[in-house]
Amino acid sequence: MCAPLDEPVLSRAGLPERVARIDLGAIQANVERIRSMVSPSRVMAVVKANGYGHGMVPVAQAAIRGGAAWLGTAHVSEAVELRGAGVSVPILTWLHTSETDFDAAIRSGIDVATSGWELAHIAQAARRLEQPARVQLKIDTGLGRNGATAENWDALLGQALELQESGLIRVTGIFSHLAVADEPHRTETDEQLAKFHEAIAMAEDAGLDVEVRHLANTPAALSRPDTHFDLVRVGIGMYGLSPFEHLSPADLGLVPAMTLATVVANAKNVPAGHGVSYGLRYTTPEATTLVLIPLGYADGIPRSASGGPVLVDGHKRAVVGTIAMDQLVVDMGRAYENPGDLVGSEAILFGADGEQPLADEWARAAGTINYEIVTRIGPRVTREFVNSAEPQTPGEAQWQITVSTDSLEQTQSVAAQFAQALRPGDLIILDGELGAGKTTFTQGLGAGLGVEDGIISPTFVLQRVHRSLRGGPDLIHVDAYRLGEDPDALDSLDLESTLDTSVTVVEWGKERVEYLTPNFVQVSLRRETASPGHTHPADAEVQTDFSAEDEDQRTITFRAFGERWRGKPPQLTGAE
Ligand SMILES: *Cc1c(COP(=O)(O)O)cnc(C)c1O
Repeated sequence: MCAPLDEPVLSRAGLPERVARIDLGAIQANVERIRSMVSPSRVMAVVKANGYGHGMVPVAQAAIRGGAAWLGTAHVSEAVELRGAGVSVPILTWLHTSETDFDAAIRSGIDVATSGWELAHIAQAARRLEQPARVQLKIDTGLGRNGATAENWDALLGQALELQESGLIRVTGIFSHLAVADEPHRTETDEQLAKFHEAIAMAEDAGLDVEVRHLANTPAALSRPDTHFDLVRVGIGMYGLSPFEHLSPADLGLVPAMTLATVVANAKNVPAGHGVSYGLRYTTPEATTLVLIPLGYADGIPRSASGGPVLVDGHKRAVVGTIAMDQLVVDMGRAYENPGDLVGSEAILFGADGEQPLADEWARAAGTINYEIVTRIGPRVTREFVNSAEPQTPGEAQWQITVSTDSLEQTQSVAAQFAQALRPGDLIILDGELGAGKTTFTQGLGAGLGVEDGIISPTFVLQRVHRSLRGGPDLIHVDAYRLGEDPDALDSLDLESTLDTSVTVVEWGKERVEYLTPNFVQVSLRRETASPGHTHPADAEVQTDFSAEDEDQRTITFRAFGERWRGKPPQLTGAE
């Protein structure tokens, strides 16, 4: 069916509505750069607070690819999540309460910092688990937060040595944190450095031999080689942002990793004297085009950041009026002839460089620092990871279920039930040997989604599109089997362009298409083998011993990954 001639066909361009695009290649390069600047000291990549808002696990993996030897988080729970995702490098955690799960830290081989009071809790957990804890001692050299005071340092050393001798802990490090390294002219850094040297000397005199001593954060790593010791703890720099007020990322050889983008929600012309947003704190000085941006303080854009920059239609324009919970308004500075043309175009709040605004400009508008701008980007903004040098290895599954079926029809029925849980943007990755029933399963999905039938094995066409017959998502059916030999072939399918609006099913897709999105369901189909000979080609003759029913028995395992699949798995009914 064609639309009438005078009615334009409306289609979605496939832009994510609100996205923080994270350049993992930039993170890797930033870590490599800082590593080369501080060598032979090593780098601890600080990935607390969801990787400063960038997405903790992918960022940690990119940092490790860039040569980070350690990871650092504030909370034990953050480090446990990293271990769950398969991260094996040493991790230090430094902010605990009496409610902290030190047992989990010990079980996962996570280093815990102590200022003093934690030692009793840590020792108790170690005794319970009969496993020594890895502990780092923190000295307060002047910041006035965590860390033992100079007066208590000797006592802390004594206690730690005693617990080490009894086998309950191993003291792996000594560290402190700087207060003013981002202002290189200030002398307090020298005083903190002198106190740190003193604390280390005392520990050595007491007989402690540690793996790592560390003091520097990003600004000290970049400006004070005398603070590098064995390790530098780098946060903001690895995300490509500058900790110094008067130096840009480019000045430091760093590349900002986060681009915050959205789509213009509305655009219209208004006359001079038109008020804008709550409180009517802005009035248009002349006739102009106002553009509505669907991001607000619920998404982490500070309400106080009126005046902040947005790149729309190739121009950097300022936010005018009060920033609301979900939206903000930009004055384009002139009246467009067709303001409606701006609707649906991309708007960039901050990004890498060149014409895009920097997070620092938002920080200035809000009277804060770039750290806060990126870290507070909220959960309604999708994180999209690009330029990963390696295929992304999925983190822990949100859930896993296994269903048995004993006929082809039942396999299709389970797939059709599963289809009820699907929506546009979903990616299903099928695996299982030849004849395991991947195409049968896809036929069931198609029936459940209500798409055109005619689903057959796509082996020789690579990709088929089955249109929805009821206004739902189309089904894209792909065979990645032969693509394994030809990496360009996968690109040429351009799955990205249809991913957001369709349900995409990829046979043989495991470890080939996970880079497309962090959200996907792996479906593994296995034939029930009644005898060990059943799958062995040499025993082909004995297969006549099996009834047709045995041939059709399957176990189907669903493993769901990514935020999209958080929550309960769907209820699927197969064989009893
Ligand atoms: C957050 C943090 C860092 C990282 O600081 P940046 O300025 O982002 O490099 C280092 N050490 C500790 C103890 C921290 O809490």
